[in-house]
Amino acid sequence: MDNMRFKALAVTMSREAGKVDFPDGMPSEYFGSQTFSKAAMRSFLSEEAFQTVMAAVHTGARIDRRIADQIAASMKAWAVSKGATHYTHWFLPLTGSTAEKHDAFVIPTDAGKAIENFQGSELVQQEPDASSFPSGGIRNTFEARGYTAWDPTSPAFIMDRTLCIPTIFVSYTGEALDFKTPLLKALNALDKAAVSVCRYFGRDVNKVNATLGWEQEYFLVDTALFMARPDLALTGRTLFGHSSARDQQLEDHYFGVIPERVMAFMQDFEIEAHKLGIPVRTRHNEVAPNQFECAPVFEEANLAVDHNQLLMHLLDRVAKRHHFTLLLHEKPYQGVNGSGKHNNWSMMTNTGENLLSPGKTYRNNLRFLAFLVNVIKAVNNYPDLLRAYIASAGNDHRLGANEAPPGIISVFIGAQLSKTLEALEKNPNMKRMPANTSEMRHDIPKIPEILQDNTDRNRTSPFAFTGNKFEFRAVGSSQNCAKAMIALNLIVADQLIQFKKDVDALLEKKMKKEDAIIRVLHKYIQESTRIRFEGNNYGDEWIKEALQRGLNNFNSTPEALEFLLSEPAISLFNRNRVLNEKEIHARYEIEMENYIKKIQIESRVIGDLASNHIIPIAIKYQNMLVENVKGLKEVLDVKTFGKLSYNQLNIITEISEHVSNINHFVAEMTEARKVANAIPETREKAYTYLEQVKPFFEKIRYHVDRLEMLVDDELWPLPKYRELLFVK
Ligand code: ADP
Ligand code: MG
Repeated sequence: MDNMRFKALAVTMSREAGKVDFPDGMPSEYFGSQTFSKAAMRSFLSEEAFQTVMAAVHTGARIDRRIADQIAASMKAWAVSKGATHYTHWFLPLTGSTAEKHDAFVIPTDAGKAIENFQGSELVQQEPDASSFPSGGIRNTFEARGYTAWDPTSPAFIMDRTLCIPTIFVSYTGEALDFKTPLLKALNALDKAAVSVCRYFGRDVNKVNATLGWEQEYFLVDTALFMARPDLALTGRTLFGHSSARDQQLEDHYFGVIPERVMAFMQDFEIEAHKLGIPVRTRHNEVAPNQFECAPVFEEANLAVDHNQLLMHLLDRVAKRHHFTLLLHEKPYQGVNGSGKHNNWSMMTNTGENLLSPGKTYRNNLRFLAFLVNVIKAVNNYPDLLRAYIASAGNDHRLGANEAPPGIISVFIGAQLSKTLEALEKNPNMKRMPANTSEMRHDIPKIPEILQDNTDRNRTSPFAFTGNKFEFRAVGSSQNCAKAMIALNLIVADQLIQFKKDVDALLEKKMKKEDAIIRVLHKYIQESTRIRFEGNNYGDEWIKEALQRGLNNFNSTPEALEFLLSEPAISLFNRNRVLNEKEIHARYEIEMENYIKKIQIESRVIGDLASNHIIPIAIKYQNMLVENVKGLKEVLDVKTFGKLSYNQLNIITEISEHVSNINHFVAEMTEARKVANAIPETREKAYTYLEQVKPFFEKIRYHVDRLEMLVDDELWPLPKYRELLFVK
């Protein structure tokens, strides 16, 4: 019999670094060349059309039909000049991936020839037959009409000779069926709320954009080895595998030299990313072997979300070109660091100021404090929403495992700012200081302009202030950051609206503006002490303390998702018009169904692999030992035989025990799955999978991993951890 594993290893060992086609010129010359960027629009659009698009981007103004036709014609001309033959509406359905349906520009003419054509109506709106996208019951299949509508704030781009037009995706009855629709609504809510708060500090701000700079972690594995691991191929993670004698304990991979094959892959995808206008900037090794990270310069949040989706897609396909397979799963290997996607987030005014950056003047510092405290208060109001919006079967393995923040949401701000907030908290009636400029000064500690102090960073916090932005670290590597961004921007918008109300109420009582602001901030700081945590988030003490503080620690997706159906969540989404009750229920259903399917598939793969791959090999090896013992018995005297066969006999028995345990657990797990599958109600079914099916995974794995240590290495069929993690 030929061993899959050795074949795969032989292929892997013979690989050389792939060739990279470097384009002519420097990145600055080809950056964005495949996007209908502002520069491309300038040269292809009439002045009127250009101004209309800009107004749509900056103020959300509508684009009328006549102008839409013009824009479509110009976009087509640009795309055709780049060799594009097809177009597609590109959107983010609730599956978590991206979707597209391609149509050709070409249409036949009467003269038996053909022309490239693209109408305004085709640009603005499409009706993909979307009946097989998840809708959580919103859209009955007999009225399978969902439609996509152009999002002019995210530039169209060309991939595979296809013009891709970023769009939202909604049902015929108007419910959102994607991530972009509620994201745009949340960003809009934040914009309005933040602008009205900025007005306390000056008249010049009329637009606030949320900014997002994500950091994407991922693993690479050679494709031949990947193919020899059905668990990786079918579930994205290894369901078995004894840990390697060496994994990350030497800590020599982090920031180490990037291997040559990987470097070729990185150069290749960076070229593609730059052509698509994705400003990727940093690349480095991560903590675990064969784990890497890439991060761009931050951008407006909606664009950054699209760029992250696009980048995940690029990573995947460019990896294949280099005979690697990309693993975006949050925990591909047990006992080794998982992958996350830090979401660095802030707010930027149209005047180019970062609202979370302490300013030079007293007025700017007070504004900074106001936004900082409101973000903390927002997280304090809805920690469970943030937790629910990062929940997934994959992330369950990471949150609470020892390298990632736990399922408890808390905020870290560092010693300097903690001191400032404590001073403000202790002193509700801040006295006015004599003015030394035209501005009034309050007795609050001075905030230095530069806060970025790497020594003061708490890497264990799920939500940390890092100098001029917050870093939301609990997001999973495979997740669409739209979700984290919907939750975060929504809760901050909602809180800023409340802040405005609270301050205005004091102003009506004739309190001075700055006094009123400080009074309200004082109250908020007091109200949100429980959410601030500066200690070690990975420690067991924190779990106990958090419980005392009334913070939840959800360890599984079904528990974390419960909050979404609660009154506070529904009312939050409703009053800010981000999602209505029907949409919330639909999304909950989809998430739960997703969870069920993931666990169901893993359970099936475990059963199949254990019964059909592992046990036959274990028995084969056992038979070899039995033969050996029989032979020894023939040639040796009784006493020597007793001494020399002892070890083999032990292994023979041990193998039998493991095999029988595996058989037994697989049978029980299959029964449990049958029970779960018969449950019609999603919530109950999800909990049954969580509580009755999933616990078998570890039990079965334990025995399989023991067998891996017993069975002859020559026979073992699955590539081992040391090979998956260390073979370049
Ligand atoms: P690290 O957290 O790895 O030490 P940095 O602090 O330099 O790295 O930045 C991490 C990420 O934060 C970068 O991807 C960057 O784009 C992003 N970032 C920086 N400033 C902002 C901002 N104002 N808004 C959003 N993201 C930002
Ligand atoms: Mg970071």
